[in-house]
Amino acid sequence: MLRVGLTGGIGSGKSTVARLLAERGAVVVDADKLAREVLEPGSEGLAEVVEAFGEDVLAADGTLDRAALAAKAFASEESRQTLNGITHPRIGALTAQRMAEAPEDAIVVHDIPLLVERDMAAAYHLVVVVYADTETRLGRLVGSRGMDRADAEKRIAAQATDEQRRAVADVWLDNSGEVPDVSALWDRLVAFEKNVRTRTVAGGAP
Ligand code: ATP
Repeated sequence: MLRVGLTGGIGSGKSTVARLLAERGAVVVDADKLAREVLEPGSEGLAEVVEAFGEDVLAADGTLDRAALAAKAFASEESRQTLNGITHPRIGALTAQRMAEAPEDAIVVHDIPLLVERDMAAAYHLVVVVYADTETRLGRLVGSRGMDRADAEKRIAAQATDEQRRAVADVWLDNSGEVPDVSALWDRLVAFEKNVRTRTVAGGAP
């Protein structure tokens, strides 16, 4: 198995690249999706969030009101840490479970927006950074997602910088223009996976 960390700033095109790799056969583990899963209705995570932040973080239908939770959780460093203390271990366990369920020869692509911010590069055999210049990203966020431009700028400024991402990138995919062709990258991942697996078997590592 090969563990690939896929990251990039908001609107860079991570999900687009993840989808292209999934079409080739990669097993994609989507960090944002797992973050939502651990707070699904009926989950222990959601029950703990309600216990910590109160019933008014729930919408009328019993699902999480994300805006209400964000308003409370980001009000202080302490409450932010309370929320992270509930969600992070659960997201970590679910990620490990999804990876363990993948076939022995899988190329697992972890689509994780905050790889750099969380200092996670060492957890992967290879880190792929998807890049798009800021104007292009703003255009996508405002154009196709209907985000407010000032809000989009604020979100970009709060994330890691391109330099910080460049420092951990094994592969740098420029997605400022046409969607990149991932054929060469896929071939490289397949070869790398074979190498990792045969070395692991030869070395008798667990
Ligand atoms: P987020 O961090 O917000 O989840 P992301 O990095 O996963 O974003 P995508 O969702 O893949 O980014 O792309 C953002 C938007 O830009 C989408 O609407 C997508 O269809 C579009 N997009 C991605 N790549 C390109 C491209 N090369 N040319 C034009 N549009 C693109």
